[in-house]
Amino acid sequence: MEPCIPLPLADGNTLKELIQKAKDWAIMHGAGMRSKDSFSPDSINFAPFMLLPSTFPRCEFERAVGIQPVLNELMHKVAHDYDFLKNSLETTIKVDEFTGRLFNIYETVRAEGITQPFSLGLLRSDLMLETDWRKCHSEDPATSAPYCCWKQVEDVSLALLRSDYFVDQSLFVAKQVEINTISSSFGALSNVLVDLHRFVLTELGHLTELRNLPDNNALEGLCGGMLSAWKVYNQPMSAILFVIEDVTYNICDQRFHEFEIQRQNAKVRVIRNTLTEIATIGKLDNEKRLFLNDTEIAVVYFRAGYTPDHYYSETEWNARLLIERSLAIKCPSIQYHLTGTKKVQQELARPGMLDKYLTPDKVESVKEIFTGLYSLGKDEVGDKAMQMALENPTRFVLKPQREGGGNNMYGENVKSYLEKIKDSDERSAWILMERINPPVQTNYMIRPNIQGPIVTEVVSELGIFGVVLGNADTILENTQVGHMLRTKISSADEGGVAAGFGALDSVYLVDIGKAPKKHV
Ligand code: ADP
Ligand code: MG
Repeated sequence: MEPCIPLPLADGNTLKELIQKAKDWAIMHGAGMRSKDSFSPDSINFAPFMLLPSTFPRCEFERAVGIQPVLNELMHKVAHDYDFLKNSLETTIKVDEFTGRLFNIYETVRAEGITQPFSLGLLRSDLMLETDWRKCHSEDPATSAPYCCWKQVEDVSLALLRSDYFVDQSLFVAKQVEINTISSSFGALSNVLVDLHRFVLTELGHLTELRNLPDNNALEGLCGGMLSAWKVYNQPMSAILFVIEDVTYNICDQRFHEFEIQRQNAKVRVIRNTLTEIATIGKLDNEKRLFLNDTEIAVVYFRAGYTPDHYYSETEWNARLLIERSLAIKCPSIQYHLTGTKKVQQELARPGMLDKYLTPDKVESVKEIFTGLYSLGKDEVGDKAMQMALENPTRFVLKPQREGGGNNMYGENVKSYLEKIKDSDERSAWILMERINPPVQTNYMIRPNIQGPIVTEVVSELGIFGVVLGNADTILENTQVGHMLRTKISSADEGGVAAGFGALDSVYLVDIGKAPKKHV
C-alpha cells in the first residue's frame, strides 16, 4: 500500500529536526510510557510511534466501525449464556489451569447467586487487512461475493466479481484477530496519536491530507461507559477502582482514563490498587458491597488480572473472588472475561453458532470478519485441523488461552509444537487460526534511544473500541466509541509496543479497495 505521502522524506537536518520535534510533542502531550530498562516513577519516555499515519482503506475502516455494536451485542449475549460457555470451555479448562481457575470463580459466584446483574464491557476488537484473496472469501459461494464495498455492486454476476478481484490488487478485507474483553488498552493514547500525526503532517505542509485522519474520541467514550456504570450503581459517595499491576509501564494511558473521569464528573473518585493490596484492604459488608478501607466501590475496572503472572499466590485469587462476589459492577465480570478467551472466539466461528444470538443480517456481517478458526481437541475435527497445520504450518497461528502478547506460535514452531502435543490432552488448551497476511507499507518507526530511523516496511492492526452495559435481559448502552492503530515491522510475528517491534500509530483513510464500477 502507498504511504500517506511520498517516502522517503529528504534526509538530513530537516528530517532529524522533525523527528526530535515529534518526540518532544509526544512527551509533552502524554504519548508516553515508563521505561522498562531504566524505570523511574518520576519520568516518562515517549511511547514508540510511527512518524506518519498509516494508510488504511476507508471502506474497510467504516465496515469495522459499523460492526462494533453488533460485536458488543454478541459478546454481551454470549457472556450471559452459561451453557454455551460451559460447553465451549469444557475440555480447555481441564488442561489449562488459568482458564480453569477463572471458570471455577464463575461457577462459585453463580452457585451463590450473582450479586450484581449488570456487567460493563469496554471491548476492543482487533483486525488486520487480509490480502490473500482465497481467505477473503468464505467457502460458501452464496456468501463469498459481497465483501467490503463490493456490496454496492449488486447486479453483477459472481463470476465477474471474482475475475475483477484478481485484476484489482488493491482489495483488502478486514479480518478479526481477536476481541479483548479485559484491559483493552490504548484508548487514551490513540487519541493523542491522531493529534500527533496532525501536527507532523502540518509541519510537513500537507494540510489537505489532514481531512483523511478520522476523529477519535475513544477515551471520552470509554470513561463515559465507566461513569454510566457508576450511575447504575447509584451511590453518590462510591468510587471507581482500577485494578493495576505492581508496576505500571503504560501509565499515561491509564492516568488519562482517571483524569477524563474527573473531567466528566468531578464527584467521582478513582482509586488504584493491586490484587495483592485488595486482598488485605478489601471486604464485603452484609449486602456484599465492596469496601476498600472505608471507600465503597461502585465499578471495578481491571487493568490487571488477565494473565497468570498477576496471581502470585492464593492471595490474588482471593481478591479476584472477593470482587466477583461483590455488588460492584465489574469491567469485566468473570463471565465477560471468559467470553474473551480464544477458545470462545473459535467456537463462535463454527457454522451456525451465531444464529442463536443475532439476526440473520447481523450474522452475515460478523461472518465476514471471521477468518478460519479451528479446534484442536482430541476428536475427528481436531485431528483434521492438526493434519492441516502439520502439512502447512506457515499458513496458521497456534494460540493458547492467554492475553497480553508473546504467547502465540508461528511458522515452523507451529509444527514442532503440534508434533510434541499430538497425543496429549493439552491440545485442547490451544486453537488454530489462519494467519492473516496484511498489506505492507513503508513508514518511519520512532523508538526511544534509537538514532536515525530509516524507512521501514511495516504492517498495521486496527482496534475498534466498544462500550456495552447491561444485564441478562436488557442492554442499556451499546456504542462504538473510537479506534486505535498499532503498527509493527512486517517481518515480526507480533508487535508489542513495549516489547520492541511495534509502535502506536493512527489511521490515514484512502479510497482504495473499492469494487470496480459496474462494467463488463
Ligand atoms: P494477545 O491476546 O496476546 O494479544 P492476539 O491474538 O491478539 O493475542 O495475538 C497477538 C498478536 O499476534 C496480534 O497482535 C498480531 O500481531 C499477531 N496475530 C495474532 N493472530 C494472528 C493471525 N491470525 N494472523 C496474523 N497475525 C496474528
Ligand atoms: Mg491482541
